[in-house]
Amino acid sequence: MMKGTVNIKGVTVNASHGAYGFEREEVHPFTADAVLYTEDIDCGDELARTCDYGKAADIMAEELSAPSVNLIETLAARIAKRLAAEFGCDCSATVHKPEAPLKVRFSDVSVTAHARFTRVCLGLGSNMGDRKGYLDGAVAAITADKDNRDVRVSSYIATAPYGGAAKGEFLNACLVMRTLKSPSGLLSMCAALESTAGRVRRQRWGDRTLDADILFYGGEIIDVPGLTVPHTDMCNRGFVLGPLCEIAPGTVHPVYGKTVADLYAELKRREK
Ligand code: ATP
Ligand code: CA
Ligand code: CA
Repeated sequence: MMKGTVNIKGVTVNASHGAYGFEREEVHPFTADAVLYTEDIDCGDELARTCDYGKAADIMAEELSAPSVNLIETLAARIAKRLAAEFGCDCSATVHKPEAPLKVRFSDVSVTAHARFTRVCLGLGSNMGDRKGYLDGAVAAITADKDNRDVRVSSYIATAPYGGAAKGEFLNACLVMRTLKSPSGLLSMCAALESTAGRVRRQRWGDRTLDADILFYGGEIIDVPGLTVPHTDMCNRGFVLGPLCEIAPGTVHPVYGKTVADLYAELKRREK
């Protein structure tokens, strides 16, 4: 496949965006440019396989025409994210405000936002009620979310409860995909999936209808309150490394510098 860019320049709308009250009372031109980074520019001459620039331009005009916001940063970020979600490729969007109220003579001000996909791995588990139904429901919701692309799911494996508190047998699976979500956005998605499944947290490692953990977020190492990535205990869990090995054996753990396949082989040797 040949990489390339689809470029749209100069989509212009008169609108009233601005942080000052007087800017909201009149209209000024706002202009957007976008670059869509496609993996498949030589796509057999088929419109359906490329980024349709007509549709892209409509989205750009629609976002510029949205109810007034303070900042062109907001508009650029919305356009970049919407185009990336629509076409499934990375996108940069620039918004110009050539009539911004500056005290000096100038020709243009602009802001550029970049929406990028990151390859992530998630671990899913359920040990209450309709376990397969909860996992299927989570996978369906993840796939339906336009921020996520190329979702691949491992087989579901039955495993004994871990950590002592849970009683019922688990069904576990892993999933790999590309996402536009930030790490905290992805964690919120996991929490939303768990609450849709009616999860109630009573005790650590207790029974649950659905558990959704972030295993990897690209090659990033994250350690902030409420989020540690890669998942701290994943290298000790066969029910994580086994399914993950089916769909992402070559993914390198950024802390240990080892592939998932190597980590799984090591765990099996340790457990012998
Ligand atoms: P474990 O994390 O050992 O698998 P658990 O999944 O049962 O245990 P939860 O009760 O689901 O634990 O989560 C507790 C908290 O862990 C969550 O509220 C979340 O903020 C935090 N957390 C930290 N890192 C992660 C991560 N990588 N993925 C999901 N949650 C995480
Ligand atoms: Ca977990
Ligand atoms: Ca969890």
